[in-house]
Amino acid sequence: MSRLVVIGGDAAGMSAAARASRGAEPPEIVVFERGEYTSYAACGLPYHVSGLITDPDSLVARTPEEHRDSGIDVRMGQEVVSIDPEERSVSVRSVADGRTYQESYDELLIATGASPIVPNLPNVNAQGITTIKTIPDAVALDALISERAPENAVVIGGGYIGLEMAEALVSRGLKVTLIEMLEQPMATLDPDMGERVADALRELGVSMQLGVTASGFEVDDGGWVRAVASSAGEIPAELVVLGLGFRPNVSLAVEAGVPLGPSGAIAVDARMATRMPHVWAADAGAFRRRHRHRHNPRRRGRDRAHRPQFARGASGGLRGGGPHHRGGNPRSLLPGKPKVSGARGGGTRQWAHARSADRRRR
Ligand SMILES: Cc1cc2nc3c(=O)[nH]c(=O)nc-3n(C[C@H](O)[C@H](O)[C@H](O)COP(=O)(O)OP(=O)(O)OC[C@H]3O[C@@H](n4cnc5c(N)ncnc54)[C@H](O)[C@@H]3O)c2cc1C
Repeated sequence: MSRLVVIGGDAAGMSAAARASRGAEPPEIVVFERGEYTSYAACGLPYHVSGLITDPDSLVARTPEEHRDSGIDVRMGQEVVSIDPEERSVSVRSVADGRTYQESYDELLIATGASPIVPNLPNVNAQGITTIKTIPDAVALDALISERAPENAVVIGGGYIGLEMAEALVSRGLKVTLIEMLEQPMATLDPDMGERVADALRELGVSMQLGVTASGFEVDDGGWVRAVASSAGEIPAELVVLGLGFRPNVSLAVEAGVPLGPSGAIAVDARMATRMPHVWAADAGAFRRRHRHRHNPRRRGRDRAHRPQFARGASGGLRGGGPHHRGGNPRSLLPGKPKVSGARGGGTRQWAHARSADRRRR
């Protein structure tokens, strides 16, 4: 039996693994996840902070046990620390005891996702300054608000995560200021729509500081943040949430010699195959140039930025070769027709629909 190894057990990795497991002759599938959760809805994290979703475990679409019931060997708390493409093996470190060991693969999927951007500003590591990416991040932020009862919060970044967090913090009773260096929130929108978003935030009670840049953080004697230094002056804040976007986690791939694309994510073709034989990549860490907007300079600029790609491509690609395929003969690895969809986009509601559809299927 062939062996598919997946690095990363969230949306991309588990979607691809689940799809691969549903073929007529599925391969042995081993997933290494360094964290505590698989397949969770990050889109619900702001709603745990706001109090709307009280049980963070309810954000988990599929637990490791549920994946194991489907025949996927999910190994939690296991971090892949290197890839050896010549030997077709990975080195794995057990997070609990530091033990390292090797595992071989026939095909490898890198689905290591992305990490929040933390700017190199003075005192950025002070207590009370946080990013939000995982369930433990949301749980820690909820606890911080309950235990320290901050009065003032600053959210830096007016993208969708910044906006959702501003709304969540307002609903927890904090006085919230949102700093955005551009003249509008949601730079992906046209200016008139961005203006409407800004107005909606103001109606919620958020102080919108547009065209303003953060330059550092003032800290009290205990090492906790007390203000944000900005081009508009000092803004009081006992809590700061950084919503500045994400960088793909590519160090494993780079060290193994897997080429990157122009955005700094792993370069893949239309089937999510990398330029390294037998190595595939999916979603937040993978870059595929597929949309070009030659007539719209604003959109053209955005195309050069990182674009997440979903696991559907990778799992579909792993099922069979094709005109763009470069990685051995995965048709023999994963026969059969695709049966389920790939990673899910959309917000909490779409996720809830997808989850109940998943449950009905099982
Ligand atoms: C607050 C928030 C709200 C969001 N809202 C939405 C939304 O409404 N709609 C939407 O479409 N998207 C939303 N997203 C984005 C969505 O969550 C991501 O696109 C998705 O999580 C990407 O999945 P992924 O599997 O590629 O990467 P990740 O979720 O980053 O998963 C990668 C996994 O790999 C693991 N890993 C990394 N390196 C290793 C290693 N070396 N060894 C073992 N394991 C490793 C990590 O622990 C992680 O679990 C939101 C994200 C956030 C943070």
